[in-house]
Amino acid sequence: MREIYLDNNATTKVDERVFEEMRPYFCELYGNPSSMHFFGGQVQKKVDEARARVASLLGALPDEIVFTACGTESDNAAIRSALEVFPEKRHIITSRVEHPAVLTQCRNLSKRGYRVTELNVDGNGQLDLNELERLVDEDTAIVSLMYANNETGVIFPIEEAAKIVKKKGALFHTDAVQAVGKIPLNMAESAIDMLSLSGHKLHAPKGVGVLYVRRGTPFRPMLVGGHQERGRRAGTENTASIIAMGKACQLAEQYMADEAGRVREMRDRLERELTALIPNTRINGGGTERLPNTLSIAMEFVEGEGILLLLSEKGICASSGSACTSGSLEPSHVLRAMGVPFTCAHGSIRFSLSRFTTDDDIDAVIEALPPIIARLRAMSPFGREFLNK
Ligand code: PLP
Repeated sequence: MREIYLDNNATTKVDERVFEEMRPYFCELYGNPSSMHFFGGQVQKKVDEARARVASLLGALPDEIVFTACGTESDNAAIRSALEVFPEKRHIITSRVEHPAVLTQCRNLSKRGYRVTELNVDGNGQLDLNELERLVDEDTAIVSLMYANNETGVIFPIEEAAKIVKKKGALFHTDAVQAVGKIPLNMAESAIDMLSLSGHKLHAPKGVGVLYVRRGTPFRPMLVGGHQERGRRAGTENTASIIAMGKACQLAEQYMADEAGRVREMRDRLERELTALIPNTRINGGGTERLPNTLSIAMEFVEGEGILLLLSEKGICASSGSACTSGSLEPSHVLRAMGVPFTCAHGSIRFSLSRFTTDDDIDAVIEALPPIIARLRAMSPFGREFLNK
């Protein structure tokens, strides 16, 4: 069975060009970049090149790039650093729709005496900047807001938010794991202090991330030990993956504009056709700016896990917003925060495209999904009631 992979916000295929770039750094060029000899030195040069490539994609300076092990580590490191930099400040602001890499940490900190404010979002999943302005105060150490949401693709007005926060003297961090490589970012003209990204969301391997730290931003490392990453993240570098990350960023910079247009057209066609063919659907976040590759579609009177299993039987990989917690199927915290009605939140499916998505993949979903929904609705008591109306 051919797999139709439309779950790219979960992880992406490693681009062959990226894989070829990293391949020699396992069995041939395995030196430690910190070594004084030529064998380590040649690896150091490639790590420097990777740093420059990441910086170029972000419009940043190479020394503002800190390699980490994943997006989660970058998020954790940014928030922890701010709390160490400002030990007297006890307030953190984030939003209700963040990835657990931010949200779980903030909730843990609230149990340790920090005051944590989770900003609300509206029905489109959008922030209210007036609420942010009202809530950020002299006690706020850091505001951490995601650039784009992993479930809905909704893009927050991050530059405006950062400006508001900077005026009040707090640090501003953004989790840009889903945004980097999909939409252009330019740190040279930004008020953002720290920004997280993750390799496996942009066709590099899993297990490598980056924390961008603006020059002059006070920073305290989470991992201490050796002098790697200018003392901001100790530990021998994951050289092959860092080199892969550099290549992935170079490819993203080179092709993003073209790819984003092509991907957006396919996503929009999928959205148009599915909403025309399946009654009682709504697009989560459909009324605001979204990533070009993400479609979160809510279908009333059906249940996400059932849809995913039936799609999977046809080779189609997507994802649902539900998480199975303690035996009951809870709709996602993102959709709940958006006030998506219970009957829709349960039947929400996310399709996320990439540079490797084809028109044939989109055709396959358009053909497979409508009969699956009709079949599931016919089987469920709510669905039958709806069909009989
Ligand atoms: N932040 C967002 C928005 C994400 O989508 C993810 C991954 O799904 C992460 C953080 C975590 O990244 P990683 O898997 O590299 O730890």
